[in-house]
Amino acid sequence: MRDDNCIFCKIINGDIPSRTIYEDDDFKVIMDADPATKGHSLILPKEHYANLFEMPEDLAAKVLPLAKRLGADMCDKLKCEGMNVVQNNGEVAGQTVHHFHMHLIPRYTDGCKTDVTWSHAGLSDEQLDDICNLLK
Ligand code: AMP
Ligand code: ZN
Repeated sequence: MRDDNCIFCKIINGDIPSRTIYEDDDFKVIMDADPATKGHSLILPKEHYANLFEMPEDLAAKVLPLAKRLGADMCDKLKCEGMNVVQNNGEVAGQTVHHFHMHLIPRYTDGCKTDVTWSHAGLSDEQLDDICNLLK
């Protein structure tokens, strides 16, 4: 299943060039074209799913082990000291390419600094309790 208007489908198809660092039957892992830090990469499923919620569970279950394996290898080779594993769903959450992808963003103590952060909503205990009850 591919989407003709999707830039990541075009990359997977080979219609648009990319810097591929890993590939198997299910995934292609490419370097981000406009990286936050040195080594910033994206895990892309070869099939088009707009976001996590559209992905079949068996495929979704393969993403984190792959992130762990590639992330460890990346830290080894690039000498990074940490890594953000980030995955955005929906425009309001910052997703700009609507083909599921997981970001691997290596972090370094010096140089290549970036922000992967959020401000706090400042909810009251009562509000937190209400949300907790709703989610249970
Ligand atoms: P998100 O904001 O989570 O949807 O992330 C989309 C990411 O895709 C951004 O970090 C972009 O820099 C990256 N990106 C967009 N187009 C390309 C491309 N042609 N090749 C590689 N990365 C891309
Ligand atoms: Zn796609």
